Amino acid sequence: MTSPHDTGQTCLTCGATAVDRFLHLPAVPVFCNVLLPTEVEARDAPRGDLDLGICRACGHVFNLAFDPELVKYAEGYENSLHHSPRFQSYAEELAAELRDRHRLTEAHVVEIACGQGDFLKLVCSEPGCTGTGFDPSFRGQAPGKGIAIEREYFGARPLEKAIDLICCRHALEHIDDPAGFLRMVKSAVPAGSQPAVFFEVPNSLYSLRDGGVWDFIYEHVSYFCGRSLSACFARAGYSVRRTWETFDGQFLCLEADDKEAGSTPPVLSPVPAAGELVGLAAGLGGQMNGLLESWRARFAEIAAGGGRVAVWGTGSKGVTFLNLMGDAGSVGVPVDINPQKQGLFVPGTGHRVAAPENLAELGIRLVLVMNPVYTAEIEGMVRAQGVDAEVVGV
Ligand SMILES: [Zn+2]
Repeated sequence: MTSPHDTGQTCLTCGATAVDRFLHLPAVPVFCNVLLPTEVEARDAPRGDLDLGICRACGHVFNLAFDPELVKYAEGYENSLHHSPRFQSYAEELAAELRDRHRLTEAHVVEIACGQGDFLKLVCSEPGCTGTGFDPSFRGQAPGKGIAIEREYFGARPLEKAIDLICCRHALEHIDDPAGFLRMVKSAVPAGSQPAVFFEVPNSLYSLRDGGVWDFIYEHVSYFCGRSLSACFARAGYSVRRTWETFDGQFLCLEADDKEAGSTPPVLSPVPAAGELVGLAAGLGGQMNGLLESWRARFAEIAAGGGRVAVWGTGSKGVTFLNLMGDAGSVGVPVDINPQKQGLFVPGTGHRVAAPENLAELGIRLVLVMNPVYTAEIEGMVRAQGVDAEVVGV
């Protein structure tokens, strides 16, 4: 199968040489999740290009221009979503499911890229269960009894203790050779140990099909669908058991293990045919420009009346959106409930992050909720501040 957009590059997950280019966003901030202490530093934050390609064989999306040298994770990386009650309850349900399904009593769990260990603690909450987490951005103390966190990348040293479950959430999409990384994970497991493996990543279908267009960020090399995620694990030698969607379709989960595949085929979450995904990708640039034009017009109207627009959420989506809005976004006020983000500045644009308590004094006419899954929760917080502005999920 040939294509006029073919790049001659090889797919990161399935290995097919069938990758089309479909969207170019130049000079976006390299770190959407690192807010800066001053406006000047924020405007001078490092930038890189997004040059997105899609595999015609498995539907995998990745950044052809990704440069791993530009990306280093360390302290200052504030990516904890645990401040949101909605996300917290999701994490609790997910941890309970893992505990039940894998009978995690008297068990040992390893978490790759565990952040501050909040999720690992939830997974290891049954009696006698221990956990080891790995994350170079870890700061502070282990979050609970039986939990040890190594402030280093997973794989830096061989593991010795038998493992029942390896989990890894929202990290694989950051890695420039995901199949190679999965092979490394497999080889790090001590002999005789056959852990179940649970991975969670953002679901590319949400961005390609369901309107989550602000999710394309430099930090993510890869955007997986069920087919490409499964292909990646199979290529690394795992037996994939199933993939499924969570969090209103925004996330994609996979379970695999190192045992023989047997007679039961994996249960994969539904994914449109690769050709259909290529078509959706091809239309994405136009869709994104249309949305930006309409929001620029709305922002200009509000600015003309002396008002401002709250852009709620300074994770990837909010930061990407403000950067793509250009000058029209200057009446935007980023808002975040995470106290560690308040008062800091958005990379690229230099907006200062406000707290919900500041809303009433800012003349807010419109509140854009960058992740619609939180709209009800945020509308409640906006009203609690005595602000009657319209609240819209973007
Ligand atoms: Zn592929």
